[in-house]
Amino acid sequence: MIELKNIVKTYDTPNGPVHALKDINLSIKRGEIYGIIGLSGAGKSTLIRCINMLERPSSGEVIVDGKDLTKMSDSELRQARKDIGMIFQHFNLLSTSNVYDNIAFPLKLAGKSKEEIREKVEPLLSLVGLENKAHQYPSQLSGGQKQRVGIARALANDTKILLCDEATSALDPQTTKAILKLIKDINQKLQLTVVVITHEMQVIKELCDKVAVLDRGIIAENGTVLDVFTNP
Ligand code: ADP
Ligand code: ADP
Repeated sequence: MIELKNIVKTYDTPNGPVHALKDINLSIKRGEIYGIIGLSGAGKSTLIRCINMLERPSSGEVIVDGKDLTKMSDSELRQARKDIGMIFQHFNLLSTSNVYDNIAFPLKLAGKSKEEIREKVEPLLSLVGLENKAHQYPSQLSGGQKQRVGIARALANDTKILLCDEATSALDPQTTKAILKLIKDINQKLQLTVVVITHEMQVIKELCDKVAVLDRGIIAENGTVLDVFTNP
């Protein structure tokens, strides 16, 4: 489903080059929940942003569903990105739009009719348990509810891949558990492929099938969560 081949990302800065990713190779299968864990500065955020080309790798291939995103034209890339949704630590909701319109936003961008939008948004509202919140604004919601909106919005275009960028880092432990459970339920219900970056071991243990440990731009270890974290 997702193949990262020899991904290198170097940022040019006034103080010289920063080698954020140094030859990353990773293979993620359809339906898998794949965690990437590492300390701050390890390159996690750069890596996950390379998967949807929010960040363009300096070299290497990003193959999604058999197609190399790094070789696509802008319009091909826009099309391919519809399959990839993303959620964020600070939710990134539109503060002047209500829950319904936040979820509808990617569908409006895609030019869907009001009726098509309604047919998508209503089931998404119930999928994430916000049937009764459609008319509330983000400022009226708890952190957990905001992330539920983020998840519904990320799934709106019949997404096949969900990227989670520290998605529970701003939430308390109990809310984190509930959001992780929701992501797991959706993964099973929709055969969704999920990529999670986090600095929290608990997230990896509760949610992920496989894990890669990222250390200063290199994958130090990867495999099943059991193998990576139970061996001496
Ligand atoms: P993590 O998400 O694991 O904290 P990042 O991917 O954010 O790691 O950062 C990896 C390295 O790349 C760090 O040294 C960071 O300072 C650097 N970096 C990240 N984004 C940029 C940028 N836009 N410009 C320059 N350096 C960056
Ligand atoms: P537009 O914002 O383009 O005029 P509509 O006329 O379809 O869109 O909807 C007006 C408002 O009604 C939307 O912004 C939304 O908040 C709300 N709305 C529409 N359909 C539903 C629904 N099924 N459930 C909850 N709220 C809805």
